[in-house]
Amino acid sequence: MTKTAISVWNECLSFIKDNIKPQAYKTWFEPIKPIKISGDSLTIQVPSKFFYEWLEEHYIKLLRVALVRELGSDAKLIYDVRMENTYSSTKPHTVKIPSSNRKPLNPQGVTVPLDINKRELKNPFVIPGIQKVKIESQLNPNYNFDSFVEGDSNRLARSASMAVANKPGGTSFNPLLIYGGVGLGKTHLSHAIGVEIKDKYPDKTVLYISSERFTQQFIDSVKSNTRNDFIHFYQMIDVLIIDDVQFLSGKTGTQDVFFHIFNHLHQNGKQVILTSDKAPVDMQDIEQRLLSRFKWGLSAELQAPDYETRVSILQNKLYRDGVEMPDEIVEYIAKNIKSNVRELEGVLVSMIAQASFNRKEFTLSLTKQIVDKFVKNTKREVSIDQIQKVVSSYFDLDVATLQSKTRKRHIVQARQLAMFFAKRMTKASLASIGSQIGKRDHATVLHACKTVDNLTETDKQFRKYVEDLTKKLTY
Ligand code: ADP
Ligand code: MG
Repeated sequence: MTKTAISVWNECLSFIKDNIKPQAYKTWFEPIKPIKISGDSLTIQVPSKFFYEWLEEHYIKLLRVALVRELGSDAKLIYDVRMENTYSSTKPHTVKIPSSNRKPLNPQGVTVPLDINKRELKNPFVIPGIQKVKIESQLNPNYNFDSFVEGDSNRLARSASMAVANKPGGTSFNPLLIYGGVGLGKTHLSHAIGVEIKDKYPDKTVLYISSERFTQQFIDSVKSNTRNDFIHFYQMIDVLIIDDVQFLSGKTGTQDVFFHIFNHLHQNGKQVILTSDKAPVDMQDIEQRLLSRFKWGLSAELQAPDYETRVSILQNKLYRDGVEMPDEIVEYIAKNIKSNVRELEGVLVSMIAQASFNRKEFTLSLTKQIVDKFVKNTKREVSIDQIQKVVSSYFDLDVATLQSKTRKRHIVQARQLAMFFAKRMTKASLASIGSQIGKRDHATVLHACKTVDNLTETDKQFRKYVEDLTKKLTY
């Protein structure tokens, strides 16, 4: 009998069910969907990154035993992370993206470059009249303005977004670039614009796409000789939302094609909305001509929310989920989780799950436990920019000097340390670290890491640098 993803997963489930509490089984295993089996690898779909992390932390042993029983000792588990109600929010590092299948030609002869990560693929094009082609917007209806809590940290970005939503293409905010650190609401806000426009102007064609997906589609179109169809497709859009444009850095082909699409849309009064984790001035490896266009409209920053806003966000979320929680606990969370909204939500989800399957009340001690864990786990997420800043200031240099071509010994050492920490503390590849730290190649970064390792063993002074910097970067 051949094994299918479903049959394998069902066997695993019946084993898991026997080994954990029913409530935990219900919370953490029922929502999982088996997707695919290939060789020794089973792919399962989980509803969020948090969910995946929870499984990895609490149930990995059990999962391993169950899988090995079914698939042998080389069994592998692949997570496909997606948020509920989002069609395109697969996150880069944990996700195994399903292989893209070419879509059929639509009746107008345009190859559809959309590769929707949905199981049952609907042809995204329906032809209602003669000329207008309908495109699925890929928007998550839950990411709307109502659910986006306003505060000082996001007021400008939020009101600019609303202005754009009221008059797409008709304000000076074109393009609108929303930038800010992880988990501060860039994706949410960019969806909100799209959702609002769809509501106000049902005839407008809105499309949300991540830069990674856009890049992949472009690469596919080159391979299949349909580059013109790809461009043509994007030029038909009225409101184009491209998320995380920093991923275009270094990808000259994609930047080039985007430049042409952008110009076409802009000239025709179409609205472009971009998000990025940095301001245009700090973007690396993006062509000048594209950067200058990013600056044509408005760049609005999303900052980390202040305490009051954090409390409102928590209350809003609790209200939406129909959960009651004592004020003192909400305040405790808001006081201790400062860096980003995704973590705030993570703590809440975790608390609700814990309290429900242990049938406990929300207590301050449970809250402390969970908050501690989040604070500890997230300390290590440092960006390469931050590393460069910390290392530069430690050696009294500015970042530009650190990145410069100079071969002066103390600067070379600082640069090597920055590369070493970037490798150790981020998920970035050697190539990407190199390109962000003064446009070096991956071999230079590799060499830097080895040098730092060697010097740490042999040179006392140098070891002190590493220790000091480690402290600065982790606390
Ligand atoms: P980013 O794209 O900047 O990394 P997201 O848009 O994915 O961040 O936001 C992370 C999470 O935080 C989402 O679930 C989002 O709904 C929520 N969020 C962010 N900002 C707000 C806000 N101001 N009000 C309510 N929820 C927010
Ligand atoms: Mg995002």
